[in-house]
Amino acid sequence: MSSVGFGMGCQTRSISVEALKPSDTFPRRHNSATPEEQTKMAESCGYVSLDSLVDATVPMSIRLESLKFSKFDEGLTESQMIEHMMQLAAKNKVFKSYIGMGYYNTFVPPVILRNIMENPGWYTQYTPYQAEIAQGRLESLLNYQTLISDLTGLPMSNASLLDEGTAAAEAMAMCNNIMKGKKKTFIIASNCHPQTIDICKTRAEGFDLKVVTADLKDIDYKSGDVCGVLVQYPGTEGEVLDYGEFIKNAHANGVKVVMASDLLALTTLKPPGELGADIVVGSAQRFGVPMGYGGPHAAFLATSQEYKRMMPGRIIGVSVDASGKPALRMAMQTREQHIRRDKATSNICTAQALLANMAAMFAVYHGPEGLKTIAQRVHGLAGVFALGLKKLGTVEVQGLPFFDTVKVKCADAHAIADAAYKSEINLRIVDSKTITVSFDETTTIEDVDKLFKVFACGKPVNFTAASLAPEVETVIPSGLIRESPFLTHPIFNSYHTEHELLRYMQRLQSKDLSLCHSMIPLGSCTMKLNATTEMMPVTWPGFTDIHPFAPTEQAQGYQEMFNNLGELLCTITGFDSFSLQPNAGASGEYAGLMVIRAYHKSRGDHHRNVCIIPVSAHGTNPASAAMCGMQIVAVGTDAKGNINIEELRKAAEANKENLSALMVTYPSTHGVYEEGIDEICKIIHDNGGQVYMDGANMNAQVGLTSPGWIGADVCHLNLHKTFCIPHGGGGPGMGPIGVKKHLAPFLPSHPVVSTGGIPAPDKLQPLGTIAAAPWGSALILPISYTYIAMMGSKGLTDASKIAILNANYMAKRLEKHYPILFRGVNGTVAHEFIVDLRGFKNTAGIEPEDVAKRLMDYGFHGPTMSWPVPGTLMIEPTESESKAELDRFCDALISIRNEIAQIENGKADVHNNVLKGAPHPPSLLMGDTWTKPYSREYAAFPAPWLRVAKFWPTTGIYLTAFLLQPCRLNL
Ligand SMILES: *Cc1c(COP(=O)(O)O)cnc(C)c1O
Repeated sequence: MSSVGFGMGCQTRSISVEALKPSDTFPRRHNSATPEEQTKMAESCGYVSLDSLVDATVPMSIRLESLKFSKFDEGLTESQMIEHMMQLAAKNKVFKSYIGMGYYNTFVPPVILRNIMENPGWYTQYTPYQAEIAQGRLESLLNYQTLISDLTGLPMSNASLLDEGTAAAEAMAMCNNIMKGKKKTFIIASNCHPQTIDICKTRAEGFDLKVVTADLKDIDYKSGDVCGVLVQYPGTEGEVLDYGEFIKNAHANGVKVVMASDLLALTTLKPPGELGADIVVGSAQRFGVPMGYGGPHAAFLATSQEYKRMMPGRIIGVSVDASGKPALRMAMQTREQHIRRDKATSNICTAQALLANMAAMFAVYHGPEGLKTIAQRVHGLAGVFALGLKKLGTVEVQGLPFFDTVKVKCADAHAIADAAYKSEINLRIVDSKTITVSFDETTTIEDVDKLFKVFACGKPVNFTAASLAPEVETVIPSGLIRESPFLTHPIFNSYHTEHELLRYMQRLQSKDLSLCHSMIPLGSCTMKLNATTEMMPVTWPGFTDIHPFAPTEQAQGYQEMFNNLGELLCTITGFDSFSLQPNAGASGEYAGLMVIRAYHKSRGDHHRNVCIIPVSAHGTNPASAAMCGMQIVAVGTDAKGNINIEELRKAAEANKENLSALMVTYPSTHGVYEEGIDEICKIIHDNGGQVYMDGANMNAQVGLTSPGWIGADVCHLNLHKTFCIPHGGGGPGMGPIGVKKHLAPFLPSHPVVSTGGIPAPDKLQPLGTIAAAPWGSALILPISYTYIAMMGSKGLTDASKIAILNANYMAKRLEKHYPILFRGVNGTVAHEFIVDLRGFKNTAGIEPEDVAKRLMDYGFHGPTMSWPVPGTLMIEPTESESKAELDRFCDALISIRNEIAQIENGKADVHNNVLKGAPHPPSLLMGDTWTKPYSREYAAFPAPWLRVAKFWPTTGIYLTAFLLQPCRLNL
């Protein structure tokens, strides 16, 4: 009605309650498509509504009626969420921890905190597979490798491993491999951290290794069956021992030596490489990465050239680009599980790239002299403390040399720890008469005075730490003092002011494509929005500054979050119990299979060790099964990409007596909701096996169906895919596992802190320990927690529906230009789909790699390449990409299709065309000579949006996979 000008002033209008609801609701920020767009997009796929598209896609037989949470069902607004997280953070009590054991307080340089850890330009990147648009983080990771290599004194380092304990277990596996599995004992010195020992013991089971822990002086190799020995330097209780003779003796007996070590100590101690160690492992946490109640932190593993092909994890190498300039790339990938599957060196896929970058930048910022100064300060404070204790005479200081950890014997350790507790100080109680005190970068001289008061046990202290300083002498034996230089490369000696570091980090960041630029539609990797509200709590002191072995009553905020998150995940997955220990998807797989193994054993079925895995499975599946000592039986897929059920049935029946598990991904890795999944689960159960579901595709299940509902017994979730933890350029991740009730007693435990859970009746034993910290990388759990709590049950269900919608919308647009490989019974795809490029090899000489590289010129990261089907691209748009962004990506692919057509119809040369020449970096485009048969302008600006904003690849294609310098900066 438009009665302009008459009586407007007296009209009354009521305000709806709806209009008064908070304006900062979250689901509409995460889920891109509006209700109108949803209908339009569904219509373009031939359905009247989003729901009818989803109904046609997800089989009715597995559909959930609805998802309902007992908490957060409605979803909190962003401001309510922040409020809630602040309350949780406040429930965590930040005491000063001197516990050590591999975790230390550290000053995270604010410039690194804000510009890397809190910066989506660094944390939203993918693993640097596409080297031309990843030179920044590749350089930073190479810095990390150089740092590790220099400090350990060994030439080869990876970037990176999940934590120190699992790094030690990987080293143990290397020793086993080096000895070709012929020597079946691995010895661990009792001066290693307890969590390291337990992880190795658990891991050894799968390799059929015997782990013997022994006091250093009791170690002998008489059995002739020893493949390796693990010692710690400095030891868990602080002692610094000269292992020179020990190593010679081990080598004389044909035994490899692994040393767990500490980077800060190695700035002043003789490096393990110079002592003769074969492998060195440890954590880079205290190089500027917060403790975070256990992680995430980067662990390292260094070794000699001789064993480089046996190394686990990602390795960055120096190669050359098409113009002959040095350029970086991931190296030696043929070791990895994507190619080697069950023969891989390890199952490590997602590692700790972001944290490795932080540690590397810490070293870049401080430089070798700065690091030494920190180390000497820490050592000096420990020295002052030890001297003061001697003067006090209330306790007895151990006589051995130490770096940062002082061990004391006392009448009543608990009494002293209680006194410390009253001053908000945590000490490590080794036993009722032994305490250790570990100093770190953040300890002050006043802190030492406080400690004197505690240890004085009521006696007056008639000196101060400052007054003692001049009397302190270093206790490190001269033979163990580091003489060799380290970090001599200019990168570690140029950026010591904040401006210089800021610009260096910015320079690297600008070379890398991240979600700040465009969608990264990597099939199976679920690169979705990592919302700011989700990320904020991660760097709050209430979460960052808690030692993982601090008494749990100091971590009530964390514990409450674990309980809530566990409950939410149980509801989402249809499971009864969750373990938050595994630090990545692959470690979740390993943990889940070990749960199954422990379950069979508890029933006397020690022989059940056959694991059926479809050929289309992710490489980590067979690699993880191999680590559990399982025998792998592969089953094929049918023409539609579904598991060949008859073949599966035959395999299950043939292995009926020994069947342990099936590993299955759902929806399938081919992006299809297989109709036969319930039957598949039944076949396995009928033959005595358990069903392990790989939860990587959970984004297509949440709210619509669930692993528990479908019939799985165990499943890992990739919180860094479905539940919004950013990929960090190759980690961190979290891979918690959910289980049905009958498997709950077997979930991982921890030797230092009880992880709670279901008390195991006599015979039922937890599988052991699979990560160094009881709740894995606790610090990043707020991300997934806030995502779920803000989305609520409806927001999450909508997310799954819109993820399916977006994939179908793109598939529909692209099907006129490219064959789409697999579809469900009604012709729809799940949340991802495969574009088949195989035909273009014959018609135009074009391979998936050429398309991925040309996409860089259009400002995009290529989709998943040649997996699970060689010669294809797998696209997963996720729910958080807008229609405009989906269209832009489709436009790019359609434009590239036209470029391929030019080759097909002879207008462009088969060998010299815009695809084969891609990507086109400025250095190439602006060179004085240009000999390509297409224009510079077309090479760089093939689409209109590039005129508005252009992301420039910094280097051109690689001539060769040849490595100049395998894994460190060249001087
Ligand atoms: C990502 C992925 C994994 C492995 O997870 P990580 O966290 O990288 O170890 C396993 N299976 C599938 C299908 C995946 O996509």
